[in-house]
Amino acid sequence: MTRYVYAFAEGGRDMADVLGGKGANLAEMTRLGLPVPPGFTVTTRACREYLATGAEPEGLGAQVAHALAELEHRIGRELGGRDNPLLLSVRSGSKFSMPGMMETILDIGLGDESVLGLAKAADSERFAWDSYRRLLQMYGRTVLGIAPGLFDRHEPTDDPAQLVEDFKQVIRDATGEEFPQDPGEQLYRAIRAVFRSWNSERARLYRSREHIPDDLGTAVNIQVMVFGNLGPTATSRGSGTGVAFTRDPATGARGVYGDYLPDAQGEDVVAGIRNAVPLAELDRLDPTSYRQLVDHMGTLEHQYRDLCDIEFTVERGTLWMLQTRVGKRTAEAAFRIAEALVDERMIGDDEALARVGGAQLARLMFPRFEAHADTRPLAHGVPASPGAAVGAIVFDSAEAVRRAATGDKVILVRRETTPDDLPGMVAAEAVLTSRGGKTSHAAVVARGMGKVCVCGAEELTVDVGARTLTAPDQAVLAEGTVISVDGTAGTVHLGALPLADSPVGRFLDTGERDGVLTDAVARTLEHADSVRRLGVRANADTPEDAARARRYGADGIGLCRTEHMFLGERRSLVEAMILAEDETGRCAALDALLPLQRDDFTAILAAMDGLPVTIRLIDPPLHEFLPDRTELAVRVATHPTTHDRRLLAAVERMHESNPMLGLRGVRLGLVVPGLVEMQVRAIAEAVVERLRVGGDPQAEIMVPLVGAVEELRIVRETAQRVLAEVSDASGLTVDCPIGTMIELPRAALTAGRIAEAADFFSFGTNDLTQTAWGLSRDDAEASFFPAYLAQGIFAASPFETLDRDGVGRLVRIAVEEGRATKPGLKTGVCGEHGGDPDSIHFFHDTGLDYVSCSPFRVPAARLEAGRAAL
Ligand code: ADP
Ligand code: MG
Ligand code: MG
Repeated sequence: MTRYVYAFAEGGRDMADVLGGKGANLAEMTRLGLPVPPGFTVTTRACREYLATGAEPEGLGAQVAHALAELEHRIGRELGGRDNPLLLSVRSGSKFSMPGMMETILDIGLGDESVLGLAKAADSERFAWDSYRRLLQMYGRTVLGIAPGLFDRHEPTDDPAQLVEDFKQVIRDATGEEFPQDPGEQLYRAIRAVFRSWNSERARLYRSREHIPDDLGTAVNIQVMVFGNLGPTATSRGSGTGVAFTRDPATGARGVYGDYLPDAQGEDVVAGIRNAVPLAELDRLDPTSYRQLVDHMGTLEHQYRDLCDIEFTVERGTLWMLQTRVGKRTAEAAFRIAEALVDERMIGDDEALARVGGAQLARLMFPRFEAHADTRPLAHGVPASPGAAVGAIVFDSAEAVRRAATGDKVILVRRETTPDDLPGMVAAEAVLTSRGGKTSHAAVVARGMGKVCVCGAEELTVDVGARTLTAPDQAVLAEGTVISVDGTAGTVHLGALPLADSPVGRFLDTGERDGVLTDAVARTLEHADSVRRLGVRANADTPEDAARARRYGADGIGLCRTEHMFLGERRSLVEAMILAEDETGRCAALDALLPLQRDDFTAILAAMDGLPVTIRLIDPPLHEFLPDRTELAVRVATHPTTHDRRLLAAVERMHESNPMLGLRGVRLGLVVPGLVEMQVRAIAEAVVERLRVGGDPQAEIMVPLVGAVEELRIVRETAQRVLAEVSDASGLTVDCPIGTMIELPRAALTAGRIAEAADFFSFGTNDLTQTAWGLSRDDAEASFFPAYLAQGIFAASPFETLDRDGVGRLVRIAVEEGRATKPGLKTGVCGEHGGDPDSIHFFHDTGLDYVSCSPFRVPAARLEAGRAAL
C-alpha cells in the first residue's frame, strides 16, 4: 500500500522530495533531539494524486486517522477535546522553499466546546477566544475561499467572543454553511485546502519566476500547536515568537541575528503588524530560552554545514523549534559564509565553490545604490547590464558626448539604440531604452562596455524630437533632469540616489584586497581557476578592452571584431573602397586602410602578449558602413553633389531586404577583391612588428559565416599566400592558425568536411541561434518573445541561455564530427552565451576548449567554468 504519512521521527533532511523541505527539516530536528512540537507529514505524492484526480488518494484518510490517534495517545490530549484540547497547525511545505506562497492554517480543532477547555487550560478566556477567532478567519479564507476583506470589515473589539460570533456569521453569509464543529472535518478540509494552495495564482507565479517545476506538489505538515501569545515575556514564564539566523544573511558575518516578538504568534512577525525587538533582547527577557536557542542554532549549523534560518516560539518559558532551513542570503554573504565555513573546516574548497555562482559575483562587481527599497521607481524595465548610475538625461549621442566632455555625468535615453549611438553610449554613465530585451543592441553593447543598462522600460515614452521623457505618472522630464538607473534591479528613479562603490569591482580591476569580502572572492576564484578545464577568453576589439580582459583573468581573446575598425573617420575610406570604379581606386582605398588596421592589431597583440588573439575577418554587410538611405536621399534632393549621388546609387544597389542573410561574412571576402588580402596582411604585419620588438604575438585568423568547406578553402588559400609573402618579405615566420566560425546550421551539419580546412572552430551562438530558429533577434525580442515566455515555449530567451535541445545539438554534432576529422581540433564559443552561467555548464559538458565573453563577464565565467568542473 502506498505510504502517504510519515511521523516526524521517521523522516530526515534527505527526504525533501517526499516530505517537502519543511517536513524534512522538522524530521531532521526531531531526530537531532531538538524540541519540535510533535506531528506528522502527508507526502507530496498525496498532493499530486489529489490534484490530478480531484479525489483523496485511497488510504490517505485512514493513514491520517491512524497517525492522529498515535499523536493523541502519545501526548494524552484529544483533538478538539473538552479539556485541554489538542490543537493542530496544518502547514504547507514543498521541496523548494516558497515562503508565504501557500497556505498554513493554525488552531485546527477549536470549536464552541473546546474553546472553553482551552480557556481553562491556558487560564485565559481572552487568549482562547482570540485563537478561535484566528481559526475562523484562516479557515474561512483558505478552506472556504471567503474574501479576506469580509473579515477585515469587523473592527477589533474588546470582546473576542463577540468577534467569534461575527466571524461565524460572515461564514454563514458567504457560504450558507455553518463553521464545522467536528475537528476531524476541520482537519481533512484543511489538508485539502493546503493541497490546492499549490496551484494558487501567487504560487504559480512564484514558481515560474524561480524556475520551480509545476508538478512537484506540496507536502502537508500536521503539528501540535504551541502558543507564543500567552502573555509577554516579562517573567521566565513569558511567551513570544521569533525568527533567527545562525549568521547575518545580509553580510555573512558570524553571530546570532534575528527578531523576537513578545506575546505573539508566528504570523504576527511575518505580517510586521507589531515591532519586533532584536533577538539579543531575548537574552535579557528569558536567558534560559535564549541560551537553549543559541545552542540549537549551533547544532543545526553543524548538521547542515551552512547558514540556517529558524522559526521558533516560546510558550510560557518553554522553547519550541518550528522550522529551519538553509537560509537565503545576499551575494556578499554567500561568498563570505562559504569561505568562513572552509576556515572552520566544515566544508572543503569544492563545496565552497559550488555554493556561490557567477550571477552573484556579477552582482558584486559593480557599484550599487545604497538601499533604495523605500523610493518608488519612476519605471521598471529589463535589468540588462548591472550596476548603478546617476546622471542627467540626454536624448542623443551627440548631446551625450558634448555634455560628457564638460565633465557632466549623463544617461543616454533612447527608444532603442543603433551602432550610431556608440559614441554616446561610451560617453554616458548608463543607457536607458523603452524598447528591446536583454539581447537588444543597447543591452549587448552596454554589457560589453560594463555600462549600466536598463532596456525595454515600456512604461516610459521617449520623444527624441521634443526631447522629453514621459513617466507613467505623466511626469514629463526634460533633457538635463537627473535620474538614477539601477541596472541590477531594472529600475529608474527620479533624482540622485546615493551610490556605494564596489570593493569587489576594485579588487578585480587592481588585485587590491581590502577585507573579508574581497578575500573570500579572491580565494573562491583561485580555486575555480585551479579546477576549471574550460579556458575563458574575452571578446575585445580595442587595446583597452584587451588590457581589462587580462586584468580580469582572461586566457586570451576569443573574438576580436574588426568592423569597429572601419567606423568613425575611416568610414570615408570604406566609402572610397565601395565606390571605387576600377582596380586602382579600390587598391588605393585598401592601401589606406591597411596601416590603420595593422596598428590596431599591433596594439591589441601587445596588450595580450603571449596569449591567443582570435581576429575575425570583417563580418557585417558593407552597406552598414554607408550613410542612411533616407538621409542621403534628402541630402541629394536639397544639395546634390556628385559624391552623394554616387553614394546614394551605391546604397540603393547594395540594399538588402534581409541583410542578416545577405552579403556578409565570408561572402564579402569572396566577392570584394582585395579585402581578405588587406586584412590578413594587416594581421601578419602586426605579428611581424611584435616579433621585431621581442613580443610573443599569438594571432589566429577567423573566417565568419562559413556554410561550406569550399568557401573556407578559397579564403584559406588566399590567407596562406599572404602569410607566406609577409614571412618572405620580413624573414620571420608568420604562422597563424586559420579557423572558422560555426554559426550556420549547414556549417554544424557539415563540420566534418569543414574541419579539413579549419585549424579551429568557434561557435557564433548568436547567429547560430538566429539561423537555427529562423528568427531575427532584433525583431523577435520586442515582438513575440514576451508571448513565448509567457506561454512557456521558451523557459528563457534562447539568446541569453543556450537552447540545449536545438542549438546545443548542432554544437555537439559539430564538435564530434569536426574532431572525427581532426582529432584535438580546438573549439570555443564566442557568442553572448559564453558569459551565461547555464550555457557555460553546457559548453563544459560538450567538451569545448574555451568560452569567450565580454571582459566584464570574464570573472563570473571563470567561476562558473570552475563550478562546471566539480
Ligand atoms: P510559511 O511556509 O509561510 O512560513 P509556516 O508553515 O511556517 O508557513 O507557518 C507560518 C507560521 O505559523 C509559522 O511561522 C509559525 O509561527 C506558525 N506556526 C506554524 N505551526 C505552528 C505550531 N505548531 N505552533 C505554533 N505556531 C505555528
Ligand atoms: Mg515558516
Ligand atoms: Mg555572427
